[in-house]
Amino acid sequence: MARCRFESDIKYRDEKTAEYVEYTCPETGNILDSGLCIFHDENYLTDSKNKEANKQNLKRKYSEKLARSEPLICIGYRLPDFSFVDLHFDKSVNFSDAVFMGLANFSGAKFTKEADFFGAKFTKEADFFGAKFTEYASFSGAQFTEYASFSGAQFTKRADFYLARFTKKANFSGAKFTVVAGFTGAKFTEYADFSGAKFTEYADFSGAKFTKRANFTGAQFTEYA
Ligand SMILES: [Zn+2]
Repeated sequence: MARCRFESDIKYRDEKTAEYVEYTCPETGNILDSGLCIFHDENYLTDSKNKEANKQNLKRKYSEKLARSEPLICIGYRLPDFSFVDLHFDKSVNFSDAVFMGLANFSGAKFTKEADFFGAKFTKEADFFGAKFTEYASFSGAQFTEYASFSGAQFTKRADFYLARFTKKANFSGAKFTVVAGFTGAKFTEYADFSGAKFTEYADFSGAKFTKRANFTGAQFTEYA
């Protein structure tokens, strides 16, 4: 059976072997003329009727993974607006280089293992309001084209926003960073709200650029900033 031709130089950590492996798409069904699967083809979602179909496919994929207790690997996926509200990811999730073509709603979601959004593109609103990241969370190189909310989000381990780009308002109000908050080289083009945020250990904003107003009112830096 034909297999999706998607290629990426992204390596991810295999949870079972703890080794870094190169990603190849395992999809053998739903291969389009492009040779790519419905999750990787960049034109598939531009047809509105496919958006709904893909939502169902994603839902199915997610519940399968959940039932088999497998990590959710969506490297390079093109995603329709999708609700992950209050979902509990008990295995690692990987959305590296994924393109969220619609609203990415992760509000209240719980990430028990690693959450990797390295290089992800959020073309619409990205909502991580109140999300809980228990392990390493990476948004390094991620691009937020519209409003990005991490308001009230909790990062228990290292959180990386290295070189992340926020084109519209970035809301980190009341967010809690327990270990490292890495914002090295991050760019905030519009209002950046860190009011009431808590940085317990290490906050690194070196080389970060704030073009408009940055609000750190009531933010707490306990150790090193
Ligand atoms: Zn694929």
